[in-house]
Formats: sequence, C-alpha cells, structure tokens
Amino acid sequence: MKHKVLIRRCDRYDPGLIAGIIAEGMQELGAVPRGRVLCKPNVVLAHPELFPHAFTRAEFLEGALRAAKAVGQDLEELAVGERCGITVPTRFCFSQAGYPAVLKRQGVKAHYFDECPQVPVALGHAERLRGEMYLPRPVMDCDFLINLPKFKAHPWTRMTLSLKNFIGLQDDRHRLLDHNTFLEQKIVDLNQVVAPGFIAIDGIIAGQKMMLTPDPFDLGAIVMGTNSCAVDTVGCHMVNLDPSQVLHLKMASRRGLGPMSLEEIELGGDFPLDQVQAKTRDFQFCLERVDDYFAGGNLTCTVGAFPEEHSADYCWGGCPGALQEAVHILRSYYPDVDQRMGKVRYVVGRVEGPLKLAPGEKVFFAGACTCWQGEIDGQPVKIESDYPLYRQRQAREAPSNDLMLKTCQAMANCLKSRGRRWLHAGGCTMSVADHVHYLSYLAGVGNPNFDRRTLLPVTMAYWQMRGRRAWSRLSA
Ligand code: SF4
Repeated sequence: MKHKVLIRRCDRYDPGLIAGIIAEGMQELGAVPRGRVLCKPNVVLAHPELFPHAFTRAEFLEGALRAAKAVGQDLEELAVGERCGITVPTRFCFSQAGYPAVLKRQGVKAHYFDECPQVPVALGHAERLRGEMYLPRPVMDCDFLINLPKFKAHPWTRMTLSLKNFIGLQDDRHRLLDHNTFLEQKIVDLNQVVAPGFIAIDGIIAGQKMMLTPDPFDLGAIVMGTNSCAVDTVGCHMVNLDPSQVLHLKMASRRGLGPMSLEEIELGGDFPLDQVQAKTRDFQFCLERVDDYFAGGNLTCTVGAFPEEHSADYCWGGCPGALQEAVHILRSYYPDVDQRMGKVRYVVGRVEGPLKLAPGEKVFFAGACTCWQGEIDGQPVKIESDYPLYRQRQAREAPSNDLMLKTCQAMANCLKSRGRRWLHAGGCTMSVADHVHYLSYLAGVGNPNFDRRTLLPVTMAYWQMRGRRAWSRLSA
C-alpha cells in the first residue's frame, strides 16, 4: 500500500483557511485525532523581529487546533508541546511566537517540555545509538501526536521537515547528547520510538539556508501525510533535492520507517509537484563547512580531524554548525557586526602545525575534541582533548545544560582568559548560546544573550521555568 502525501496551496496565514485545508487533509488521509492529542510545532527560536521565520506560525497552529477539534473524536485533551532550542526557555519562545493568545482562544494546554518530567524509554533495534533515551511525560502519555514542522533548509542536515522536528521533543540535558556527528542517527532513534498520527508542515513561508535565522521563501504550501519518511521525501522533491542527500531520511527509510521513493508514495492535493518545483528552482540551502563559509572575513576557521571514525573529516551535527548559527544570530541583533568585529580564528578538531595568526587575532579553541600544541605570542600553548567516545557517555548521566549555569561558566572562562588572546571552551556539543558568548567576547562586539530587547523576558521566563520544573518534581 502506498503512503499518501498531500500538497495543498495556501498563500496566506489565515487560521480559518488553514483550518479548512488541514481538516480536509485529515479526512482524506483517514487521520482522526482521539484521546489525548498533542500537537508538536517547531518553535526552535522565535521573535517577531529577530527570528521571524524560524518557527511554525501561530496562525498555522491555530488552524491545526481548529481542524483537530473539527475532525477529532472522543478528545480527552488537546495540548501543544515543545522544547525550543539553544537552552532558551520554551515559555519565552511561545510568547514571542504569539502562541499564548492562540492557546487561550482555543482552550488548549501548553506542555513546556523543559518543565516536564523526563521518562526513560528503552530502544531495542540493532542500529540504535543507546539502549535508552529520555522523552517528556506528555509525549509518552499522548494517544495521537500531530507533528507541525516548519518547512526549512538546515545548515547541518540540509533540510528540517517532519523527522528532524522530533529533536525538539527532548529537554536540554538530553538534546545536546549525541548532537554531534551522531545527530542523524539520533533523529532516527527519536522517530523509532515516537510516531506521529498526522503531519502538517507549515510551508506557507518556508525558510532557506539557516534554521534559526532563515531567509524567507514564499512557498505557499501545506504538506500533509501520516508517515514522516513519505512526507519528508515529498518535501525534498518540492525543493528539487534528492531525498538520499538527507541522511536521517535515508537511515530512517533503511530501518523500515517509511519510503524514500516517489514510486511508493501517492501524491494528492491541488498543488502539482512539478509546479512546486518550478517555483523553488532558486531555493537556497547552506550545507557548507565553516572553513569555506567564513573564508575572507574577520572570522576565519581552522578545521582539523574529528574523533569518531565514521566522520573523521567533519562534525556536521556539532560545534561548527553551532558557530554558523551563532554568527547569524549576531547579525540578526547587530546588522553591522561583520564590520565591527575584531579578527577571530575559530579552531576545532585535532589541528596540527602553526596557526599563522594575524597581529591581534584572537583564538577560539572550541569543543571537547579540539587539541593543538604550539606557541602563541612566544608562549607555549597546549590544548588537550577530553572528548568522551559516545559509548562512554550515558543518557542518564547527561550533564545539565541549564541556561544560567552555562552563562556563568562561559563568563568565568572569559574572565580566566584575560591577558591572553586565546581561550578554550569545552563540551560536546558546545551549544549555539555558548558560541554566542565566546564569539562576542573575543570579537569585542555586543552579546545578544545580554541584549536589552530580550534579556528581561528571557530571564523572567527562565525563573518561571525553574519554578514550574521544581513544582512538577515535588508533585510527581
Ligand atoms: S566537541 Fe568535537 S565532536 Fe563534539 S560536537 Fe564539537 S566538534 Fe563535534
């Protein structure tokens, strides 16, 4: 039996129009939400001016909620759950995305996954990364999961559609574990333990190149289906991309989670694939190594070798990609940052030989796997790797990636490095937020983590999150 995927035209963020399209999609696909229904949008980061195209829009969420109510039967609960990215409290991103008004209007509960109990889930399949992974309680308790991704290119995995959206199921402690050269496998593991009952991708305005700061692309489409591999395969073809170029899709399909060929998919809807492809001929991706991407500017990169055998030449899911996102965040906050920043060399991986630094150029040794030995300003410098091979790390022992703790650690590390022009920041993976801290310090530019436009609401959301998390532990 072929999996059916629908591409529907939708040219504006009108909740009524979107609700009608999604309700028709649910009916055509035979997807009837029942029992405890959980909607999982992509709210990796949100702000109306700084990050306007990174997230599933509030109007789209509202349309999906209305459709779920119209088509659903025996609904016990209708909720929205997410863990946004880069250690920022989900409450902050929900509020910036305009979600609270939608939740209130629709009488729907929010599950902030960073505030929920995390439940261990056993994995049994042969290709798994680990024997267990952690997921928030509301995900494990729901009867019907509606996946609501944003249609975006991605600088680490080429695309983020349905399969990749499940990275936002995990809290920070577990999310950054294996968010390195194992990212693609991790995505597949998440999809092995959780399956959506229905998927609707917000492709009305799609995102190009970056995932936190994408360039908008007027795609005018909603993509719907019930199988993540089938939906992602169609999503790739919509932007003229061979699905086998998306590694997690290839791995998921090989594991039997769904098809990766159009021959195994029945296409429907009112937006023919060839018309979509004609429209997206100039859709832009950004899967570039940082040493190429930043060549010629004040920030340059020296990339060495990486410790895991399957990916010794580059770490696609980890620190280098976080640097790219960090630079784009700096540009979002301070558009002239490229002109104002001092020279910085980013060094990652096992690097040998002299760095040939320019006068005054600062050095940022990034990540646990980075090692180098040589002289800077006539002084011997030895950076040693403390990278733990992934099998030596346990999910239940994953370190905290708490926002305040990480900020304090980064500030202390910066203070420690005063008087010299280099610093080493460890961790695997080093988060985007950490990259922002260190890069802004070394480059001598403002730090968006302390920017007045977001500092107060992020801090308030953080303390609310800590309070709610403590309450949920006490009442568990
Ligand atoms: S520490 Fe090394 S292996 Fe780990 S995410 Fe960073 S670059 Fe990748």
